[in-house]
Amino acid sequence: MSGDTKAQIDALLSGVRRDIDISTKQRIYCNRNLRMDGIELIGWDMDYTLALYNQERLEKLSIDLTLQKLVANHGYPAEIMKLSFPSNLAIRGIVLDCPSGNVFKMDHHGYVGRVFHGTRELSKEERAEQYRTDSRIRLSSDRYRWIDTLFGLPDAVMYMTMVDWIDGHEQEPDYQKLFVDIRKSIDEAHRDDTLKTAIKADMPGYVVKDPGLAEMLHKFRSSGKKQFLLTNSYYPYTQAVMEYLLDGERQAYPSWQNYFDYIIVGGTKPGFFNDQNPFFEVDVKTGVASDKPATELHGDRVYQGGNIHTFEEFTQVSGERVLYVGDHIYGDMIRLKKSRGWRTAMVLQELALENDCSERYAQEIRDLEVLDRRRRNLQSEIDYEALMLKQIQRLLDNCEEALKPRLVAAKKQSRTTLDSLRTRSKAMHDEVTSLERSIERSYNPHWGAMFREGAATSRFGQQVSDYADLYTSRASNFLSYSPLRYFRAPRKAMPHEM
Ligand code: IMP
Ligand code: MG
Repeated sequence: MSGDTKAQIDALLSGVRRDIDISTKQRIYCNRNLRMDGIELIGWDMDYTLALYNQERLEKLSIDLTLQKLVANHGYPAEIMKLSFPSNLAIRGIVLDCPSGNVFKMDHHGYVGRVFHGTRELSKEERAEQYRTDSRIRLSSDRYRWIDTLFGLPDAVMYMTMVDWIDGHEQEPDYQKLFVDIRKSIDEAHRDDTLKTAIKADMPGYVVKDPGLAEMLHKFRSSGKKQFLLTNSYYPYTQAVMEYLLDGERQAYPSWQNYFDYIIVGGTKPGFFNDQNPFFEVDVKTGVASDKPATELHGDRVYQGGNIHTFEEFTQVSGERVLYVGDHIYGDMIRLKKSRGWRTAMVLQELALENDCSERYAQEIRDLEVLDRRRRNLQSEIDYEALMLKQIQRLLDNCEEALKPRLVAAKKQSRTTLDSLRTRSKAMHDEVTSLERSIERSYNPHWGAMFREGAATSRFGQQVSDYADLYTSRASNFLSYSPLRYFRAPRKAMPHEM
């Protein structure tokens, strides 16, 4: 290669960012190929998508307000205010089995992997007794509440802690009632504005201001894409949060509203994707919505309610040309994918933490795979040797006297081999279990990683892979990529290719 050609190639490559140059925390991961140059309209959810929250603080606030409501409105004693509610008790993807006081995590086959009653982990035997492996869990049943948004973590933390508390207080605890009381109280805190008033009073304490957000939105706009905001929050709260996040960030955009071509608040997702509610214009001075349905969507106005059919009609953009970015599997992703064919991207705030753990424990995770394979090989040898021993015994029981000494010697030899294999297997098993536990504990001491359950993908991980075309830890990660990027899913290997 001539010096000139090499210089030309170097110059070309120096301007190109490859995935490998982008840190894992800033990467956008791809489940299904997506060409951004085919996207004309990008929709953004607000809470936990554009607005990331300080999870520990928001969870503590939700719990404090919920406890106050349990005492004031549902007859609970004031002593519950003194309980401690550790924030690491819950992760996304766990399931509350409301009538039983149990909480569990499933793998993608619907198999219940681990179970806690309150905060006590059930043994393998207890688990097998309560959750048969041959019947699949139907999450749509009223019995279960699946925690698939970060807003749902306080439900789980409170339920687990208070199951312990109620077990210590009542002969026949009513776990279903406990769940309903907690759910109602959390719901009230969201709806009667006590939660939002507290957040608005200390925005920097609760909302994470992402320095790349304004530039990312600007980059998409300047590449010719239209953008809209579609949130379930109502106007006064949306106004306060968006103003905090974006106003004053870029000179060309004096108000946060300038970043968007359409603004929809109070969208009641997933109802927005399923129902036929009209759009109503919001009076931005009072925050009150008009009672006359809107007949078009103006870029400089704010609308409440609405539905996807009317939205596509008004904007004249539909299906594969729209990308919606949200954080909630049930509220933001499932219906869109199932019925309208919009492309989807999911923001998973916890992904950054999981990436950290996976990087820190990369060597241990590789060691675990090797050890686990060896353990399974050893187990097959044990099964085979045990079979041999049985056959020798059967021969011994039925043979002539003269053959017995040889068979006795063979039996002794086989037993010695079996004992030594079992000793090795036990040591290997202990090592695998302790390595597995220490890796899992680094993700979460109770539940392990969000995307895995044992050796399998977790049910939550499976849902992300089924419904989110792209996923990442924060919206501003799009900044690291060209607005025309062709995101490609990695080639999936079959077991024999690994
Ligand atoms: P989005 O993610 O921007 O669509 O908005 C989520 C909205 O749902 C926020 O305004 C939350 O306060 C609200 N929300 C979350 N959980 C609950 C709940 O349990 N009851 C009522 N509203 C909720
Ligand atoms: Mg959201």
